[in-house]
This record gives sequence, structure tokens and C-alpha cells, in this order.
Amino acid sequence: MRALFDAQFQASRAQVSVPLAIRRDRLQRMRALINTHGDALAQAVQADFGVRSPRLTEVADFLVLRALLGDLEKHLSRWTKPQRVRTPLYLQPARAHIQRQPLGVVGVIGPWNYPLQLTLGPAATALAAGNRVMIKPSELTPHSSALLAKLLHESFEASELCVVQGGADVAHEFASLPFDHLLFTGSTAVGRKVAAAAAANLTPTTLELGGKSPCVIDRSVNLADAALKIAHGKLLNAGQTCIAPDYLLLPRGMEAAFEQAYGAAVQRLFPTIDGNPDYAAVLTDRHHARLQSLVSEVEARGARVVTLGQGGEATRQLAPTLVFGAPDDSRLLQEEIFGPVLPVLLYDKLSDAVSHINARPRPLALYWFGTDTAARDHLLQQTVSGGVTVNDTLMHIAHENLPFGGVGESGWGAYHGEAGFLRFTQQKPVLVQSRFARGDLFYPPYGPLFDRVMGLLKRWL
Ligand code: NAD
Repeated sequence: MRALFDAQFQASRAQVSVPLAIRRDRLQRMRALINTHGDALAQAVQADFGVRSPRLTEVADFLVLRALLGDLEKHLSRWTKPQRVRTPLYLQPARAHIQRQPLGVVGVIGPWNYPLQLTLGPAATALAAGNRVMIKPSELTPHSSALLAKLLHESFEASELCVVQGGADVAHEFASLPFDHLLFTGSTAVGRKVAAAAAANLTPTTLELGGKSPCVIDRSVNLADAALKIAHGKLLNAGQTCIAPDYLLLPRGMEAAFEQAYGAAVQRLFPTIDGNPDYAAVLTDRHHARLQSLVSEVEARGARVVTLGQGGEATRQLAPTLVFGAPDDSRLLQEEIFGPVLPVLLYDKLSDAVSHINARPRPLALYWFGTDTAARDHLLQQTVSGGVTVNDTLMHIAHENLPFGGVGESGWGAYHGEAGFLRFTQQKPVLVQSRFARGDLFYPPYGPLFDRVMGLLKRWL
């Protein structure tokens, strides 16, 4: 690992300026890899999960990646150019610009839930910005991680882009390398360790973490439409999505109507659960048992649990579940759920929903459903979250002109689009002095001329 890092480090210092043609070529090789081996990669993800439709990988990993690659390729030339800035009068006739340069070597640590999008996406963005990249994919997706390593090894020099495989020990060692930037996607708990390891090298980090993303329904909602979109966002990949709605805030009195609408939505999306190839499995027995225990714990404490459809124990396909009346201090309401279980919390006034959200760590995503724009604006103004989709779920991640990232405990820094390009770029300010400049007016010894100039400037500035 260290040898790979050293090779990348030396290459990045030997070729500080990375021409557009090289950057384009790297992105094209990444695109070619997806085009040629997409099916095999999706099959590998299927093997990792047991049940996970290659079509799900097509839409949730590859479509997002293709959009990201297309956007990078389209804007690369403009984003790479020096950016002229206006020079204030007191510095004229100097000129100034911001030179955009690669940082050097970027590390990317990925999670298991979308193992291709969340490794290749940051990697492509860092490559576009002219960096060398090392990827550490999750050890919990061994088939896709191994295939990714093999394919990238065939398409890229190790000094351009390489993969290091391994578990938590390797990951810790990886996070301790003196990268020029380290992007981590994963849990908040491990994110803390990554930030600590990176701090020892003063390596700046982007932390794409998780948390409990609320979904707020307003009384003005079209319930059938909202329930369908919430069910889609919650049940995609069986809830194993960082920006899945974690829990619902519902106006009191709408419980029965929502339960009926959500049931109809689930029936439409997934008429069966056990054996349905469109409904992803929970990744491992350990994750499956954890989710079951989150539900049984609140059921034992009096919560009402509604199971929609018949799950499969052997396939680890956990049925969509609604939970009403879970106690506040239960793990279900304290921990990120990361599964197809949706607790429903009731609120009376919008201000109660706002207070609930603001009393907790800032979420990665927030969703709002309704037509009352005043209520919508109030909620958006009074809460802080990593991102928002109004009247749908998940979709803000697919918009390349929106930076994607968290805030507070859901992470820091964002990528996608130009925000991502700049995340992996040194924006170097350059001032070019003019030979007609009169900077000497400010030099000592300070005399009457200095006082006159300062007097003028005091009036202008
Ligand atoms: P995880 O934190 O358990 O693991 C993520 C990666 O960290 C793995 O590659 C793992 O090997 C590595 N790792 C483990 N210990 C480490 C250490 N000490 N130092 C450095 N790296 C270490 O997360 P996970 O279970 O793979 O993924 C689920 C979590 O990821 C959820 O919390 C989810 O919300 C979050 N997530 C966030 C986003 C986002 O974009 N914000 C996207 C997907 C998932």
C-alpha cells in the first residue's frame, strides 16, 4: 500500500500540471470500463448481496456515474481554466486570477451499499481535477471489490488509479497515509476515526456520512403520490441508502390514511417480497438480525408494527415495515436504520416538527411533501440539512449542479459537478504586479505623502 502511495505521490510531484487530454483520456477509460464490464460488475454486486437486481445497480450506480462522467467531460475545459478576478482600485494596475491545480494524491474509502457509484464517482471527479487516486472499497462486498480492482488494474497505471483491498486494519492504515485529500463515505462512527487519522497528517477530508434523514408530510399533501415516492426512496436497495428517508413526521390524525396509502404503494412496487429479484436483500445475517432486533425491541415496548408482505429469512429479504408509537429512546429512533423499516412520528404543529429535527444531529437529507409553499419555505428556512428534495425522495443526488454532501454529523464537504471538481482542486490565487504599480506609496519611511494617500483611501474604502 505504501509503495503504491509513494509511486502516486512521486508521479503527482513530477507532473504537477496535468493536461486536459490526459484528464479526458482517464475519464473515457472509466466510461469504457462501465460500458464494457457494467454487466459483470452488476452481477458481482448481485453476488455480494445475494439478491440485488442488476437493473437496480444499472439505475442507482451506473446512471448516476454516467451523469457524473458526462458532466465532468462537458465542463472539464472551462473548469480547468484560470479564473480571472476583478482587481480593486487600490491594487490596480495589477492583474489577478485563480489558477486551478490538482491537489496531488486523493484517497477514496467506500462503503458497501452502492459499491460502484460511491468509489468510482469520487475517483472520477478527482481524476478530472488532475489527481492520482487510490480507492479502498468495502470488504463487505468482496466480489465487486475484487472485480473492480482487476478491471481498474487493466485500464489504468497503478500510479494513476489503483485499488487497495482489505478490512478495518487495512482501512485504518489507508486513512493514515499522507494523502493530499481523503474522501470517506461510510458511517458517522468510522468517519470520526478517519478524520482523526487524517488529522495526524493534516490531510483535508471530505466525509460523506449517514444519519437519520427526516421526511415531513404536510396536511396539504397528495397522500397517494407521496406514499409512492416515500416507499420508493425507503425501499430502494431495501433501505440501505444513505439518503433514504429514515423516519416520517406525519400530521396527527393522518395515520390510517398514510398506512393505507403506503400499503398500496408497496403493493404496487413490490407485489411480493420473498424471492422477488427487484427487492434487495439485507447485506449480511448480522445486518438482518440487527434490523429485526430494532423492530422487536419497540414492539415489546408497545409500538404497533405493520409488516407489509412476506419477507424471506433465508434470502434476507426483510419485508417493508411501518412502526407507530416507537419510544423516543429506542434504538429505532436513535440509530440510523439503514433498512426497510419506517417509524412514523406524529406532530400537531409544523413548529413541533421543526423542533424535533433541530433537537437532533443535522441530517444528510430532508424531504417534504405538500402543496402549501409557505409551510415548505418555513421548514426549509428553519432547518439545516445536507440536501433537500421537495415532493420526492433521493432525487437531489442525481442533479449534477447541486453539491452533494452532509453537514455536522452527516459529514462535511460536498462533491458532484463543479463543487466536486473544486473539492479536489487547489485554487491558487495569483497576483501579477504591474511595472506601473505605486506600491511604494505605502513603504516606510512614513511621511506626508503616505498620510495623504491613506487619507484618500480611508474615504474610498
Ligand atoms: P462503514 O463506516 O462501516 O465502512 C465504510 C468504509 O470504511 C469501509 O470501506 C471500511 O473498510 C472502512 N473502515 C472501517 N474501519 C475503518 C477505519 N478505522 N479507518 C478507515 N476506514 C475504515 O460504513 P458502511 O457500513 O460500509 O456503510 C454504511 C454507512 O455509510 C451508513 O451510515 C450510510 O449512511 C453511510 N453512507 C453515506 C453515504 C453518503 O454519501 N453520505 C453514502 C453511502 C453510505
